[in-house]
Amino acid sequence: MMGQQVVRTVLVIAATVFLASLFGILTRPVGYLAAIWPANAILLGLMVRRPEFASAWGWGAAFAGYIAADLVTGGRLGITLWLTAANLAGVLAGYLCFRRLAADHRALRRPISVLYLFAVCVASAVAAALVGGWMSKQLFAADFIHGLELWFTSELVNTLVVLPMILTFPPRDAWRWPRLGFGRADLEHAAPALALLLSCMASGLIGGPGALAYPVPALLWCALTYGRFTTAAATAAVSAFLLVLVTGAVGPQVEAFAAINSTSSTRLGIALMALGPLTVASVNSARNEVLASLSLAVNHDGMTGVLSRRAFMRISRAILAKAARHRRSVTLLMFDIDNFKQINDGHGHQVGDEVLIMVAKVLDRELGAHGRLARIGGEEFAVVVADLSAESALALAERLRAAVEAAPQGEGAVVPFPISTCVGVSHMLVAPDGDPDHGLSLMLGLADGALYRAKSAGRNSVVSAAQAAIA
Ligand code: GH3
Ligand code: MG
Ligand code: MG
Repeated sequence: MMGQQVVRTVLVIAATVFLASLFGILTRPVGYLAAIWPANAILLGLMVRRPEFASAWGWGAAFAGYIAADLVTGGRLGITLWLTAANLAGVLAGYLCFRRLAADHRALRRPISVLYLFAVCVASAVAAALVGGWMSKQLFAADFIHGLELWFTSELVNTLVVLPMILTFPPRDAWRWPRLGFGRADLEHAAPALALLLSCMASGLIGGPGALAYPVPALLWCALTYGRFTTAAATAAVSAFLLVLVTGAVGPQVEAFAAINSTSSTRLGIALMALGPLTVASVNSARNEVLASLSLAVNHDGMTGVLSRRAFMRISRAILAKAARHRRSVTLLMFDIDNFKQINDGHGHQVGDEVLIMVAKVLDRELGAHGRLARIGGEEFAVVVADLSAESALALAERLRAAVEAAPQGEGAVVPFPISTCVGVSHMLVAPDGDPDHGLSLMLGLADGALYRAKSAGRNSVVSAAQAAIA
């Protein structure tokens, strides 16, 4: 087991670093630091996401990967060793900083996370520059200070562009490919991406220093529409595109950008701009989480976990409206546990609570996906189901009543004494012009009346509104 983990670590890290370094070396202008050097950010991201890779074997494999990539492309051993030391110093500094951050920040899930990411990237770039700066003369015939500046900015730009994608990369069970069609919702979903494409084209065609900011509104739109990873990927793509445009790292310098010289300042500016959309995406993700937990709290009963009264009313109205359109029936069942006060008085409120939880569980299990269950009062539950015949409605009510009665002997029972419930049934074929609000209060009233009849008939029984009305 242990050996397997070591082999996996060595293979993954060495291969990743080797290939990413090769990519950087092959795209670098002769005699300069690579314009796009993703290896350090990818290695740092891997170590942060999978701490099991950050073993002595992992660091050793990374060292071998850097050296191998440089040597196979004709690097000199002395310089290669020094470059590798600088790369590893940057990654190690970043890794040690990330270890101090909470997992939520490492995944850019909180509003302030992107600022922490920025601080870590700065620390990592400083560490790499402090080691690499000593090679300024040999590498780019510059003095130490100028070398520091070059190294620092190129390292910072590369980490800021690449790292967010790795930190927010979704776990495998959350992978979802967008299934886009030509419906209205699909077009609305695709619009931010389209706007981004158009604004990038405008940047390329118009040019000049201002063109660097053209994609910003579309990026913000993406951040508000898509998740953190998609935003990080879109931002990285735009940054890479702009970097290539202004530095002319690939192909000849684009005419429209001739006025901007590809100084460190421009490159740094492009990378820092990426922090805006990333922050918006993190804030949005934190906000969505809060909204989701709030709506869960509002729509569910805190004790039994079934729907709350409020959600039940909303859902029932929607079911009634739909039934009216399709001329279908709606069934409403109302439950009230028998002699519940005696359970509380005899065994205490805590046992009473356990009975409520058990009854909710039994009703939920028995009902399955056919209808919706809610706790609408202290020891009162309600069920709404669409499209049942009058007989099936009564049969369902009877089945649920029997299930509650059998619960104390059933699986997971919490109390040894008998429990029973009364059920009031109201069943209606909804008129096409029926008002859902009126329909719902009518059905609730009828079910309540039937429930009352069931109680006076001696409890543990089912009574339907029709019977109640006749009696
Ligand atoms: P009946 O058969 O006529 O329905 O008799 P009952 O005792 O069930 O009737 P009643 O409505 O008078 O009693 C309901 C009791 O439910 C009163 C209240 O103290 C208790 N109750 C309401 N909510 C809760 C709760 O959340 N937990 C517990 N343990 N008891 C609750
Ligand atoms: Mg009651
Ligand atoms: Mg009761």
